[in-house]
Amino acid sequence: MKKVIIRKTEEIENWRRNINSEINFIPTMGNLHNGHIKLISTAKNDNSNVNLVSIFINPLQFDNKVDLENYPKTIDNDIKISFAHGADAIFIPSTEDIYPPNNKNIKFLKAPKDLSSALCGLNRTGHFDGVCTVVYRLLNLIKPKNLYLGEKDWQQLLILKNLVLTKKLNVSIKSIPTQRDFDGIPLSSRNVHLSKNERKLIRFFSSELLEAKKNFQQEKKINLKEIIKKLSSKKILIEYLEHLHPHTLQTARLEDNISLLAGAIRCGETRLIDHVFLMKRRPIIAIDGPAGSGKSTVTKFIAKKLKLLYLDTGSMYRALSWLLIKENIDYKKEKKLQNVLKDISIVFKSNTNSYQDVFINNYCVTEEIRSQEISSIVSKISSIKEVRKFLVKEQRKIGESGGLVAEGRDIGTTVFPHAELKIFLTASIDERAKRRKSDKNSKESQEIDLHTLKELIKKRDFEDSTREISPLIKANDAIEIITDGYSINEVVDKIIDLYNDKIPKETQIQ
Ligand code: C5P
Repeated sequence: MKKVIIRKTEEIENWRRNINSEINFIPTMGNLHNGHIKLISTAKNDNSNVNLVSIFINPLQFDNKVDLENYPKTIDNDIKISFAHGADAIFIPSTEDIYPPNNKNIKFLKAPKDLSSALCGLNRTGHFDGVCTVVYRLLNLIKPKNLYLGEKDWQQLLILKNLVLTKKLNVSIKSIPTQRDFDGIPLSSRNVHLSKNERKLIRFFSSELLEAKKNFQQEKKINLKEIIKKLSSKKILIEYLEHLHPHTLQTARLEDNISLLAGAIRCGETRLIDHVFLMKRRPIIAIDGPAGSGKSTVTKFIAKKLKLLYLDTGSMYRALSWLLIKENIDYKKEKKLQNVLKDISIVFKSNTNSYQDVFINNYCVTEEIRSQEISSIVSKISSIKEVRKFLVKEQRKIGESGGLVAEGRDIGTTVFPHAELKIFLTASIDERAKRRKSDKNSKESQEIDLHTLKELIKKRDFEDSTREISPLIKANDAIEIITDGYSINEVVDKIIDLYNDKIPKETQIQ
């Protein structure tokens, strides 16, 4: 594809009409650094879409004339950098092109109050209104499939996600973690204005935030006053330093697993922002749903792609059922069952065929637990109070430090009610029976015909969703995905998109 530079709005509209593939859009204000390069190259590596970079210093988002005049302009170099790192086209409009003086069709937007009045909005009147206006205008001209933005401007990212949602724009936002310079300070076009001493101050600020993050991992709490005192002792002029919920930007609550510590400081004429995410444990994804909904296949793929631990809670109920039957234990007798449960150990070990083996008291039961005999008894055994109490405790132990995706029936409602992402995966009974029948790992599929399999699944659905203790139901905050007609990859991609939307990329770096 011939690389092009486009300068006029009519030209970009023409160009857009003639492009047959989807577009990745990377909006910038120029003076490109490694942060922008990461955005451009990530877009390039993500897919085979056409990559369009825009360079436009948007006057509407400057509340200070001097700041606008001083904003570094390095257009020739920006063009070279963009093309060298994967841009197929660059859009460099003038202010008159973006805001034609007498055009009544240009919409001047207002950013939502709840998100724009906190943090940077406190001192930068109208800044986020300007951001929304220009991005909305550019998105309407370019109609991209993906919009690439940096997490460095986290508040801006939230506001633009909200814009896409409220304006029902058909664009998916992809974010990249804050890119930092060799000394740890976030890359920013404004860094060129810093004197040696000012740079030292921001370095101290960034390293204090990092220190707070490390302390939080140990202590699970933060002392804002202490940090402010430390920063002030270095004569750092703090504009704000706040500990907030990462999505609502309201004050962080005790139960928030991930929170945002964000600050802005003034160094001479330059104002710089930085943040860290504080985490009590790594994130958890809960995937619940009835038999045959595709949970296991989907969950394994997600675990692999997101480098999370895979927890198949159904296999724990199956393994326990296997043992109770094998050892002929009368599980209806409470005392007897309690005695058995005291000495049970269930362990998972990864393997190359079926992802992982399940061991109960050192027996490898991976295959046996998929038999028709176990499938027909497991729902009965899993409805026993002592059994659930025991296994839920074991499952919580496995998930204590997070970083896992768990599948089952009660993960989002009971086992991990504070999971960051809850999915309720389902499909029609016909589809589920068909899937089970073609599942090579399921012994059931070889043992019985499709009609009987369907009836057995129905029976198990009924038992699982009508039992007294933690029945199979969709958690209030779970997202339902009906998988009929979708490929495994499509479902996996959808869940990963939802995860990326909730969990900052910065927290996903291992
Ligand atoms: O997912 P799978 O079909 O292997 O689950 C087997 C059975 O284990 C379910 O039908 C249900 O009775 C029980 N189970 C449960 N709670 C879970 C996971 C499975 O009760 N979290």
